[in-house]
Amino acid sequence: MDYATFLRRVPKVELHCHFEGTVRAATVVDLARRHGIALPTEDVESLYDYDTIEGFLTIFGLVASTLIDREDFARVAFESLEDGQKLGNLKHREMFFNPTLHTRRGVPYGTVVDGLVDGIREAERQLGVSCRLIADVYRQDTPDEALAMVESVLAHRPDEVIGLGMDGAEAPDPPERFAAAFARAKAGGLRLTSHACEDAPPQNIVTCLDLLGCERIDHGYHILADENVVKRALDDGLYFTCCPTATARVYGWPDLSRHPIGGMVAAGLNVTLNSDDPTMFHTDIGKEFVDLCTALNYGPEQVRAFCLNSVDGSWLDASEKARLRAHMDAELKRMQSELVA
Ligand SMILES: [Zn+2]
Repeated sequence: MDYATFLRRVPKVELHCHFEGTVRAATVVDLARRHGIALPTEDVESLYDYDTIEGFLTIFGLVASTLIDREDFARVAFESLEDGQKLGNLKHREMFFNPTLHTRRGVPYGTVVDGLVDGIREAERQLGVSCRLIADVYRQDTPDEALAMVESVLAHRPDEVIGLGMDGAEAPDPPERFAAAFARAKAGGLRLTSHACEDAPPQNIVTCLDLLGCERIDHGYHILADENVVKRALDDGLYFTCCPTATARVYGWPDLSRHPIGGMVAAGLNVTLNSDDPTMFHTDIGKEFVDLCTALNYGPEQVRAFCLNSVDGSWLDASEKARLRAHMDAELKRMQSELVA
């Protein structure tokens, strides 16, 4: 087995992946046609071409607009997990979705979440891949809209919905705006995470931990600018869900060998690798491992650490986590011995 194949095939858990960023381009075209929605292009290859966070968010909204019926959400959730398994040996994912992106268009929250759960359960049945859901606050929403979203999540909550997160452009809308939404989610029993320190200072990580009560940090790259925050993260055993390709494209680290993920690993932080918005960035969870580990010359032991970090940082309950960890550990050992052979 060559090393790229090994990287692609090692068993993976993904903690940072947005449902709306996993839609196959061909499925967007198909759904748009069915619902009579005009796209800027029907050329599947060029649908996902953009270079800025603003361009990305525009396409993100457009793709979401093609998701209308419960069946649409179910289809995309299933396909997205199927892609993860096929392209990266995905075992489990904790997947973000943005409720207000859909409810604002008049799609009821129940349609969104019931559709997602249909797709997830079908993937578990057919493919053996498990998935849980994290509802994301969209930072360009108002604090009241975010709070109302949390209330609707708590009012209609299948077992698969386990957490609250937060995404959208970070610099203009700092985390403290959404303290009330996070407090309500915590009181309602949801686990908490947030995108932070992707294009904003390390203080945002501290705010997410201390004010919002977050248990994980999504991205976190600028943490290296503040050694006190690094020390805090090490002391807390904090997990970071890092996304090489997406940030390389949008935030200007095109050379992965110089991406801050390398510095975070060197500092001893608990880094996990993730695909973020895979179809929108022409990537997948397998390719993320191949590209980053090749660029930074990481050997099998570091790869193993990435894989197991993701299990350890997941929000599966203790018995599920132990079972998945043992299964992945055995598969990793077998694959490492095949690599040597
Ligand atoms: Zn993200």
